[in-house]
Formats: sequence, C-alpha cells, structure tokens
Amino acid sequence: MKLRYEYEIAAGHRILDYSGKCRFLHGHNYFFVVEIETRELDEVGFVIDFNEVKSILLELDHKTLLRKDDPLADLLESEGQPVVRMEGNPSAENIALWVGERLRERMGDRISSMRITVWENRRGSVEYRYP
Ligand SMILES: [Zn+2]
Repeated sequence: MKLRYEYEIAAGHRILDYSGKCRFLHGHNYFFVVEIETRELDEVGFVIDFNEVKSILLELDHKTLLRKDDPLADLLESEGQPVVRMEGNPSAENIALWVGERLRERMGDRISSMRITVWENRRGSVEYRYP
C-alpha cells in the first residue's frame, strides 16, 4: 500500500561555507511530497496517519533552519525565535533527509520504500529515496 501526502510550510534558512547568495538569511515556501510504501498496515489500518506526517512537517514550519553550529542559532533562540538545528547545512537535500529520519524513527521496519520530494521553489526540487 502506498501513501502520498503533500504539504507546504514556510521556513527561513541560510547556508554556511558557501559563496552564493543563499549564505544570507532568507526564506522559502517548501512544498513537500511524501510517499511511503508498506507491506502491512498498522493496527488502525493506516500506512501512517496523515496527521502524523503533517506533524513532522509542522516541526519545521515558521522556524529558522540552521546548521547546528551556526552562531545565529544561539542569538535567535535568546530572542525567543524558534530554531531547528540540523547536522549539516539546511539545504533542501538535508531537509529531505531530516524528514526521512523522523519517519524512519516512527515507522521503523514497516517502511518498504519511501520517497520525499522537497520543492524549494517552482524550479527546483530534490528527492530522497529510501532504502
Ligand atoms: Zn534558500
């Protein structure tokens, strides 16, 4: 059985150790397409509750996504601004991986395959495939 869920969030980010203009703090409306396939449904009869997928994406909504060692993270948090710290730069690629990790934590072995597409704007997207 295959589930597909689409959702859009807004988030800020910046890319460190990079010479392009994305090194400056800015934002995107990220459009996600989450596809998950399982061989078996859960006890309720779902691949996964749509609301659970949505809640993972909402963890990023209206947040500033930063590399964990970005000095801006401490500053923003001291101002009461919500920050999500990522292992690497908050590129669309790493954002897709971040969402994939959260889904794997929740669903474990039940996932037979998964595809997470992140559109950063109308022109460009990345796709994370698991396994
Ligand atoms: Zn950007």
